[in-house]
Amino acid sequence: MSGARFQYLRLSVTARCSLNCVYCRPRGCEGAGGGAELTVSQLRLLVECAAAEGARKVRITGGEPLERQDLEQVVAAVSSVPGIAETAMTTNGIGLAGRARALREAGLDRVNVSLDTLRPERFVLIAGTDGHADVMAGIEEAVRVFATVKTNAVLLRGLNDDEIEELVAFAARTGVRARFVEYYRTNCTSVGQETVPAAEVLARLERAFGPLVPLPADPLSVETVYRIPSAGKVTVGLIASATDPPCAQCAKLRVTSAGVLLPCLFAETGLALAPLLAREDADGLRASIRQALSMKERGVGRRGVPAAGWQVGG
Ligand code: SAM
Repeated sequence: MSGARFQYLRLSVTARCSLNCVYCRPRGCEGAGGGAELTVSQLRLLVECAAAEGARKVRITGGEPLERQDLEQVVAAVSSVPGIAETAMTTNGIGLAGRARALREAGLDRVNVSLDTLRPERFVLIAGTDGHADVMAGIEEAVRVFATVKTNAVLLRGLNDDEIEELVAFAARTGVRARFVEYYRTNCTSVGQETVPAAEVLARLERAFGPLVPLPADPLSVETVYRIPSAGKVTVGLIASATDPPCAQCAKLRVTSAGVLLPCLFAETGLALAPLLAREDADGLRASIRQALSMKERGVGRRGVPAAGWQVGG
């Protein structure tokens, strides 16, 4: 692999989403959300096989995972797999307020909620719909229910990068960790958006709050974490996905909602698991996971590295 041992499976449980964020599903790409989804028992089998190959953490994502009505069953099935020590979810927070407690009871350990802006009118510009109050209620309830809540802001130059300090102040008030994510380009990405480099965010934070104290890194996380002593116990996380992608530490494989196994976020092709899942072929699934890991080790699928030998389209 790129360095680290396989430990972390990122599982997209649906391609549907309630929002059309400019950095993710810009105008013209809104429709990219349908298609077949894996069933609860298929997701369970997949995680059992991943755990047998070394995974100990699962992140449920999408699309928007809360779009699945059976998400609580998904969480219960995945989190109870022997060997899985942590089950996390990344969500946009729409509908989270009413489901956070049930998700916690089903076995979800932690949540990351997208929060690109604290301003409702800006939320509409970024997400294409008015859901700000719903997201804020979701974060409030998540803080009550989960020990750890992180917010993710994708910073876009000229759109929300003037809110860095306000997002940190919000984190200090509520107890979440504010994370700032560098915008990266995708196949379905809006033209004209500009990345705000993590180094620039760090400099801005130091100007506003004084020196930051680096904290030890979680080996399974891609963020660089700092404490801001002048703002109480608040911590911030910076994710340099565009300027310094953390390939060397990456211990992750991804599965799309249609059951395609990817070695990397930027991989354009992967291994189709659906036929193996349909016949409950655990040996075949484990072999595919090992194959993906060996491709990952050689850097295949990473941005700019050709995917020669890879079997199917993603
Ligand atoms: N719907 C959920 C959400 O909003 O968090 C989960 C899926 S979303 C694709 C997962 C994460 O990817 C979010 O934190 C989102 O902000 C981030 N993301 C999506 N497109 C991105 C891009 N082009 N650049 C940087 N981050 C992006």
